[in-house]
Amino acid sequence: MQFKDIIGQGHLKQQLISSVREGHVPHAQMFLGPLGFGGLPIAMAYAQYLNCVNPQPADSCGECPSCLKMQKLAHPDLHFSFPFPNIENKKISTEFITEWREVLNQSPYLSLHRWMVKFNAENKQPNIPIKECQDVMRRLSFKAYEQGYKIMLIWLPEYLGKEGNTLLKIFEEPPAQTVFLLVAENLETVLSTIVSRMQIIKVPPIVQQQLADALVNLQQLQPDEAYRIAGLANGDYIEALDLINHSAGEHAELFEQWIEIILSRNADPMAHVRWADTFGALGREAQKSFMVYALHILREVLHLQVYGKPSDVLIGSEKNVVGDMAGKFNQEKMARLADWLNDAYYHIERNASGKILMLDLSIRLTKLVKPQNAAV
Ligand SMILES: [Zn+2]
Repeated sequence: MQFKDIIGQGHLKQQLISSVREGHVPHAQMFLGPLGFGGLPIAMAYAQYLNCVNPQPADSCGECPSCLKMQKLAHPDLHFSFPFPNIENKKISTEFITEWREVLNQSPYLSLHRWMVKFNAENKQPNIPIKECQDVMRRLSFKAYEQGYKIMLIWLPEYLGKEGNTLLKIFEEPPAQTVFLLVAENLETVLSTIVSRMQIIKVPPIVQQQLADALVNLQQLQPDEAYRIAGLANGDYIEALDLINHSAGEHAELFEQWIEIILSRNADPMAHVRWADTFGALGREAQKSFMVYALHILREVLHLQVYGKPSDVLIGSEKNVVGDMAGKFNQEKMARLADWLNDAYYHIERNASGKILMLDLSIRLTKLVKPQNAAV
């Protein structure tokens, strides 16, 4: 993986390269941000740069023996550790290395969902078990095979439970020429004992135009459509792919029905239940992408309230929904709704029932929009 293959992120790439060229290579770094911003490919390109025999001012050379092995994910000093499902009695990540290489060859913008689907295990909980922690220590106890750095790339340390504490000492005092690169999405769900031992590198969202260009080049979208999707996805390439796959139209209709029920004065309570049933029947990823869509609409409502006219990313009947909501939700209520949607996303990701969550949310929302003096 070279820096040139990463979507956008010019500033961060240059910062990483400069630090290596100045001889400053922290031994434990955590790339932090939603996976679709590119933490994993950036960490991989950085690893390749670190061990490149002939590094250039803007990138690894891509041709030296080290680069060639890095590109095949077959460099003996590049180690991976990641969460995996409990299947076939497998206990350590090296037992999954073939599948790991396959998914990264398809695209290094890997989501946990795509990884779990690889094993038809999308509804199982992934884990980084204690045996894997022991194996990380074991792999690092050997000398480097080649000159350069021995690199341990840990993807999603969120899945390290208490057993992750067995790694603290090695994070603090790693063997010589060893670098830990952690790729995490959510600081709050990583053990704080691990976080405190890392240098945190925040991965920012991809700039909208750069994301749109990537969608044109990699997904053959028309430029207008690419720009619109890039706007919806908020700088997140994986979300953008998700929106392309679950066409926004599908969410738009469901969202519109939902708001209609919530805003109608005398909605039949059963209408809430039926809507929650429909939502609950969606797959987990579709439920999550619905939340992303709903948050996008919220931003558009805010845009309308602030600027007095809808933005140009809205299509079809979205303008009406946004208009209806702008009249009913003041900014304080919008902020509460955004919090609730974010919470719902979090719980859905952790296997909560979409139906129950959304039924509860519908009822809370209906109360929220009711005029203060109306009977509850
Ligand atoms: Zn090279």
